[in-house]
Amino acid sequence: MAHSHTAPPPPIALRVKAIESLLVEKKLIDPDALAAVIDLYERKIGPRNGAKVIARAWVDPDYKQRLLDDGSAAIAELGFSGAQGEHMIVLENTDKVHNVVVCTLCSCYPWPVLGLPPVWYKSAPYRSRVVMEPREVLKEFGLAIPGDVEVRVWDSNAELRYLVLPQRPKGTEGLSEDELAELVTRDSMIGTGQPVYPS
Ligand code: FE
Repeated sequence: MAHSHTAPPPPIALRVKAIESLLVEKKLIDPDALAAVIDLYERKIGPRNGAKVIARAWVDPDYKQRLLDDGSAAIAELGFSGAQGEHMIVLENTDKVHNVVVCTLCSCYPWPVLGLPPVWYKSAPYRSRVVMEPREVLKEFGLAIPGDVEVRVWDSNAELRYLVLPQRPKGTEGLSEDELAELVTRDSMIGTGQPVYPS
């Protein structure tokens, strides 16, 4: 199902919102508990699929090449596909280039690999500022990009969704693929963070 920037929310989204409002109003659910569930899908469950893709690319050069050549097909090899992820492009971070992803018009996001988009990703300030002053915005995320590294900003849309392939942290030669996946954060796959360095 194509996602359009201009169309109103689909009927299912409106129905979910209506039911949520009703349940909160009738005190049948606690909005804080709901926020915790959403947080779980934003940060923990959702991005685990993407982390597995990144870890595989770090350990398997052939897979990495397939991932860069045809993101959708290589991601589907690991069983991840579906709505909001039909046409995936994978962007490789290198010593020379740092990639960061935005949807300037709304909130296009690769659901099959990252789950639900975080609130800041959908916010107007992020969507406008990351295009105009990406280095400043990344600094606010705690990410200082050296001056000799080019920052490339990619605007998602209804047809294309992006996944950043972060650089494998140094000192991780002895880690297994599963252990490497643990280092891959959601933000490192959007480009607003880096993988966690092993302690
Ligand atoms: Fe969008």
